[in-house]
Amino acid sequence: MLSVEEALERILAEIRPLDVVQVPLADTLGQVLAQDIVAEEDIPPFDNSAMDGFALLSKDSKTHDGQPPRLRVTGGVAAGYVADHAVEEGTAMRIMTGAPVPPGADTVIQVELTRYDGPESTWVEVLQEVAPGNNIRPAGEDIHRGQTVMVHGTEIGAWEIGILATLGQTSVPVVRRARVAILGTGDEVIDVGEPLQPGKIRNSNSYLLEAAVRQVGAEPKRLGVARDTVESLREKFSEAIQYDLILTSGGVSVGDFDLVKNIMQEQGNINFWRINMRPGKPVAFGHISGVPLLGLPGNPVSSAVTFELFGRPVIRKMQGHTRLLKPQIDVVVEDGVSDNAMRRHYVRARVEWQNGRFIAHTTGNQGSHMMTSLLGANAFVIVPEGGVEVHPGDIARAMMLDWPEV
Ligand code: AMP
Ligand code: MG
Repeated sequence: MLSVEEALERILAEIRPLDVVQVPLADTLGQVLAQDIVAEEDIPPFDNSAMDGFALLSKDSKTHDGQPPRLRVTGGVAAGYVADHAVEEGTAMRIMTGAPVPPGADTVIQVELTRYDGPESTWVEVLQEVAPGNNIRPAGEDIHRGQTVMVHGTEIGAWEIGILATLGQTSVPVVRRARVAILGTGDEVIDVGEPLQPGKIRNSNSYLLEAAVRQVGAEPKRLGVARDTVESLREKFSEAIQYDLILTSGGVSVGDFDLVKNIMQEQGNINFWRINMRPGKPVAFGHISGVPLLGLPGNPVSSAVTFELFGRPVIRKMQGHTRLLKPQIDVVVEDGVSDNAMRRHYVRARVEWQNGRFIAHTTGNQGSHMMTSLLGANAFVIVPEGGVEVHPGDIARAMMLDWPEV
């Protein structure tokens, strides 16, 4: 059986980033920039004032005989407008934050360091000497024309969107979002809205996976549930192969009706189908008609956990990300983990920062059918393979699911 690391390495080796598309700026959140962004303009585009105050010549701010100099105010310039005349010796102009510095002026004094007679004042007294360039934000100080502002591979967050907006980038070249087909399997699996019948259970996996796929920024498509026959699976897969990735749940174990592997063999290849972990030993990876297929286990918790470990990094790699894995930190396991599995165990837990330490509380019964063990969990405490026991108060590694990838 493969270790989690070997399995992940074998999967990722088969995954390539998707093609590049031009996307409207506002829709790029979370996507990866596919080209360098070079500024075509200076930012700020013009010298402007950093303060509300008065634009003047710095030499006019020098005191004579201990008296503050008094200048004639010839007008004002607000943000969004351009002064219609220059500032000359012995004069000043009111100026607002963000307004272009009028010609002639070489400095700005903030309003708090002046005395004047209300908004219509025809004079201003300068209470402090100011150096040239004071409170002026020069054109190109932030970004100069021709500068490479962002490199390809950058993950676009809110701050990057702000910078792209400032540069006038109405659309952005990004790696496109993955289209992911989600397929349930099993004669016992019915849709959420159907009444329960004897022997039947609702399709929780497809809905959970759809949401999880969307959380990674990809575009999920639920294709319903295949019956446990090769005919039904073939039919569903003929539709699924139109997507970038196929996620199935169930049907990959050693039961009489676990037929997903048969189809993989028939129409593609199986790279592997078992991993030395718990929950989630039966995880299959391979291709169908050239489309990567990740066959997740049917047990809902196994399916959720293995999606985090394998599905999420696969989709991120497809979407151009280079940071693929959730960070791992040391935590104090307050309640311990009593069972000693020979396989590596990913124990659902709530990790919180308390009194200067990260403390983990496991989330109850850890059976792979116990969906409630997912509730409130934000981490997996990782219990190494080989029957290692974690006693209350022991330190263990935890994979932080609600932290960004590193
Ligand atoms: P399998 O690997 O197909 O034998 O499924 C393992 C377990 O997961 C069985 O108890 C199935 O009933 C259950 N299961 C399979 N698919 C789903 C699903 N889509 N939603 C919820 N449970 C499922
Ligand atoms: Mg099944």
